[in-house]
Amino acid sequence: MIIVMKKNATNEQIERVVSWIKSVGYMAHPSSGVERTIIGAVGDNRGKEHLKVIESLTGVEKIIPILKPYKLASREAKEGNTVIRVGDVEIGGTGFVVMAGPCSIESREQMMESAFIAKKGGADIIRGGAYKPRTSPYSFQGMEEEGLKLLKEAGEKTGMPVITEVLNTSEVDIVEEYADILQIGARNVQNFALLKKVGKAKKPVLLKRGMMTTIEELLMSAEYIISSGNDDVILCERGIRTFETATRNTLDISAVPVLKALTHLPVIIDPSHAAGHWRYIQPLTRGALAVGADGVMIEVHPEPEKAVSDGGQSLKPEKFYRLMDEVRKLEQFMRHEMKVSQ
Ligand code: PEP
Ligand code: MN
Repeated sequence: MIIVMKKNATNEQIERVVSWIKSVGYMAHPSSGVERTIIGAVGDNRGKEHLKVIESLTGVEKIIPILKPYKLASREAKEGNTVIRVGDVEIGGTGFVVMAGPCSIESREQMMESAFIAKKGGADIIRGGAYKPRTSPYSFQGMEEEGLKLLKEAGEKTGMPVITEVLNTSEVDIVEEYADILQIGARNVQNFALLKKVGKAKKPVLLKRGMMTTIEELLMSAEYIISSGNDDVILCERGIRTFETATRNTLDISAVPVLKALTHLPVIIDPSHAAGHWRYIQPLTRGALAVGADGVMIEVHPEPEKAVSDGGQSLKPEKFYRLMDEVRKLEQFMRHEMKVSQ
């Protein structure tokens, strides 16, 4: 249920509605827009009848049922889009955000070099994995805390925010200590204990779509995080499994406009894990921009041929710089053209 407050509703009136919602066993989730406050009331159906009384409380304009199973993530639950601020970077705002860096953090030298490549290219956020989800137990599993330290150092030296994946509930606190954004990888998209745990974190969460996850399931996973207390969720399309084998996964480009219609959350694309080959990163990034994504996450490595993971899909520095040149030009073009065509 969404409780839409009147434009001139006072804080006391909002508070009264919030307490009422809680008193019938629902969770209250207020969100203040430019115009008015909207309060999401979520819970199981048992208190539904009692909720209807809220319509008669002062300051309440109307009550709207949310028909979608994801309540807080749905467009109805909020006025406008969610814009997430991390340092000076805005995700979901007017700009196109680029997150770049190596698949894995491998050494101080490799991490610092990668970070300066990201900065030189004009990226906004540095990525790097310290805990790696690998198909084979014999593959490199990540530098763990040592890697987190290097990532943080790289962020400090470049003045850029950093993002890294968290694999287990037991590691959320330590990853939160070092990273600016917590990444939930494709394999953990329905690890509900982990989703609830990052829902209690004070840092934004980048939630990747799983390789077998429908858009609705992805939104339900986002709902776990938001309903646990963390509103700052960024969705990431990174390719899904299909019968096609020419690319590592199949980038579901239509997920962007579909998600944009269904949710207020920012949506980015990861062309690296979608395509699995450096050759396709540039065209897919163009696609991400054109289709209205809020950004991309791209794997970049100083020497991809020596990378311990995902070298084949990582861009070399020069290729990354060229891509970034084009991204910023296209971004300007899109912004101008969109304004003109509105
Ligand atoms: C990653 O970004 O490092 C990663 C493992 O990606 P995904 O979860 O999309 O496979
Ligand atoms: Mn990777």
